[in-house]
Amino acid sequence: MTPAPVVPSRLMRCRECDALYSLPDAPDKTTIGCPRCGAVFLKRNSRSIANAFVFNLTALVMFLLANAFPFLSMSIKGSMQSSRLISGALAVYQLGMWHVGILIFLVMIAAPLAKILINLYVLAPLHFGRRAPFAVNAVRLLELAHPWSMAEVFMLGVLVTGVKLADVGTIKIDVALFCFVAMIVAMAAADTVYEPNEVWERLQRSPPQPWPSSDEMKHLVGCHACTMVCHVDLEPSFCPRCGTVLHRRKRNSLDRTWALVIAAAILYIPANVYPVMTVVSFGRPFVSTILGGVQELISSGMWPLAALVFFASITVPMLKLIGLISLLLSIRHRSRWRPADRTRLYRIIDAVGRWSMVDIFVLAITASLVQMGSIATIVPGAGAIAFASVVVLTIFAALSFDPRLIWDAAGANRDE
Ligand SMILES: [Zn+2]
Ligand SMILES: [Zn+2]
Repeated sequence: MTPAPVVPSRLMRCRECDALYSLPDAPDKTTIGCPRCGAVFLKRNSRSIANAFVFNLTALVMFLLANAFPFLSMSIKGSMQSSRLISGALAVYQLGMWHVGILIFLVMIAAPLAKILINLYVLAPLHFGRRAPFAVNAVRLLELAHPWSMAEVFMLGVLVTGVKLADVGTIKIDVALFCFVAMIVAMAAADTVYEPNEVWERLQRSPPQPWPSSDEMKHLVGCHACTMVCHVDLEPSFCPRCGTVLHRRKRNSLDRTWALVIAAAILYIPANVYPVMTVVSFGRPFVSTILGGVQELISSGMWPLAALVFFASITVPMLKLIGLISLLLSIRHRSRWRPADRTRLYRIIDAVGRWSMVDIFVLAITASLVQMGSIATIVPGAGAIAFASVVVLTIFAALSFDPRLIWDAAGANRDE
């Protein structure tokens, strides 16, 4: 492979519809979006690196504290059980569901920590005008970790578990939980102020370039990692700034998305039929399916929480499956109907998918609190594996889908 020659410019191709733009020198604190599909591609803020650094540093301190102290404790008839942040993943692992245990560990501990550490590794030197070794690879890793970091979804799981177990025993909130909430707030603030374009431009600036001719335009590919617009005659070429292999579109996007969606749709049935867990309290089993969990919340009068869990566990996976299938069909039938709205639908599907993990987190937190032998114990059910698989497969499906194909199929990218 040969490095593709750089197109020295502030040209930008929209990641979601592939429209080509020449970016103006935006004043500070302005946001520039794609006029065609509404995707945001630049949030100019001269303090973005400094602020993101401070928020990530705060998040790291809170992460360490959240792991150092007890998280929750529960007492049932005088018997007390204390749990730490990692206890949920460990308990599910030890109860025989090692795959679900590892998944929980990855999304609530490993991915958030990786995000914080990579951010600090890149941002701290940049803040002081320097560049860390392998910074480019680190920023690319950050993009990989981002969709799998689900600390905030875990907090919703804590809330749901608290309500569900209120009848079984008394739950006490410990100091680590407050630190964990602070970490989530700091991470959300860091995500809001983080501006990838600013980071890439500081790592390696893309020099200005005149608007290309229509013939040249066909060969301009936007790097999906760093957004630099590069000239590609032959595939495969790689981005001169970040080394990513350049493709006009994600490879085999439609076939891969179909395969993942069909697999998820099949698993959606056992995920709802089989129990996620069974809590055995004083010899009495309480079987809990996904829908049963919502009914439990309704019967305890927690309507808002029931609506939230219904949305996260039932509506979101359905929305993802039906949404992705309709997008795939609309591309197959070369639909010209409202491509901007269909791109927006894709954006929503991509953003909300992670919230379905809440039921898996409820299982983990319950497993970490209810291990008291004959008083109360928990048995994870086959529904948990099926449901976790649905969540993971739909996240991969959304990542495999290339929204630019919506615009290609609608004939919007034909002139270039
Ligand atoms: Zn666009
Ligand atoms: Zn690149």
